[in-house]
Amino acid sequence: MDKLVNLCKRRGIIFPSSDIYGGLGSTWDYGPLGVELKRNVKEAWWREMVQRRPDVLGIDSAILMHPRTWEASGHLQSFTDPLVDCKNCKQRFRADHLESQRCPECGGELTQARQFNLMFKTFMGPVEDTASTVYLRPETAQGIFVNFSNIVDTQRVKLPFGIAQIGKSFRNEITPGNFIFRTREFEQMEMEYFIKPDPEEEAKWFEYWLEQRFGWYVKFGINSDHLRLRPHEKDELSHYSRGTTDIEFLYPFGWGELEGVAKRGSYDLDRHAEFSGKDLTYFEEETRSRFRPWVIEPAAGVDRALLAFLLDSYDEDVVENEERIVLRLDPRLAPIKAAIFPLLRKGGQPEKAQEVLAMLQKRFVVAYDQAGSIGRRYRRQDEVGTPFGITIDHQTMDDDTVTLRHRDSTIQERFPINELAAVLERRIGWSE
Ligand code: ATP
Repeated sequence: MDKLVNLCKRRGIIFPSSDIYGGLGSTWDYGPLGVELKRNVKEAWWREMVQRRPDVLGIDSAILMHPRTWEASGHLQSFTDPLVDCKNCKQRFRADHLESQRCPECGGELTQARQFNLMFKTFMGPVEDTASTVYLRPETAQGIFVNFSNIVDTQRVKLPFGIAQIGKSFRNEITPGNFIFRTREFEQMEMEYFIKPDPEEEAKWFEYWLEQRFGWYVKFGINSDHLRLRPHEKDELSHYSRGTTDIEFLYPFGWGELEGVAKRGSYDLDRHAEFSGKDLTYFEEETRSRFRPWVIEPAAGVDRALLAFLLDSYDEDVVENEERIVLRLDPRLAPIKAAIFPLLRKGGQPEKAQEVLAMLQKRFVVAYDQAGSIGRRYRRQDEVGTPFGITIDHQTMDDDTVTLRHRDSTIQERFPINELAAVLERRIGWSE
């Protein structure tokens, strides 16, 4: 993990937040390459979960929501973790993460566990009193449930259908850490899939979404041996859940959650109907009946997914007797799709390379590099996962062809410049 954290900092993928002030505990900023990678992870999810499905619609709801939302959802009461303090060294821990009854740092005695609410509180408007208290959302899901009627009334949807969104969530975690695995501010990709209130339908769609989501990680480059499904024990289920299975990933610190797939039943719609007094039912034409649908929820984290993609793609090997670091990222996720190198800084090569850059930049994120030996330039791109290197050489000046070097195999092929865009498009592979 340290190697990856160093690479991320050195190459502008992820920086510690507020670095000049010594950082702010477990918060991170995405740099120029990280932001592209993150956008691509979200794009991969959004295409697959929303745009390529006739049965799922997207929304983008506000982070600040009416405070009644959190009463209704149960978060005000139940979104807590058990907190213990060490009486000796004063460190704080999540009781359910400890393996023994003693402090893991100094072996000291621990206090009794008390429940700590994870929601961040703030005030809306200039008066700081209880009437103006609002919360930073701890999950994006509630923005979907409170919009259920808006979608049903305006979008002509039919069960089963889903509503999805990607956005920031905030949790005042007791023990954040492990780089971007657990932070207090993070991004989620959640989808609520509404189905008929029927246990058989529920079992069917639960299996379906587990399989889809597992497959998504594999499709975008995670080794399936590093993934496993872990059903929750009854006593660890969230307050809203009728059953949850986590998709776990083998991080360097052990197996940990990547995504949770939960059966939320009609819990959320029932509670919002009760607290808002609004009719949150769905009308089914065939049976002429009204009911509140049940829900299957695949809930993923952008940052955790990104971490898993980085970890599984990190590799070190030897090319032409030189060691290199290489991120074997799926080309769809790679921050930069191709880098353009004039072999020499003369003979019209830089100018030609600039032309190729301008042409490709219209469709892809591409980089330009004319500094140092060609080997060094290749390796600079390998370690940030750029799948293709395009070299302009003396032959280019004669016949308008370039070499295309592949990051993983380092094999080079020659293509006419006017075919480059189509070749890249095909090899990046978004159409799959
Ligand atoms: P954990 O058990 O690790 O605290 P959780 O079960 O509380 O996670 P969910 O409520 O199921 O998490 O949230 C769905 C997804 O959101 C998680 O699978 C994870 O990818 C992401 N996520 C949740 N909490 C955090 C966090 N503090 N930092 C980064 N990502 C998070």
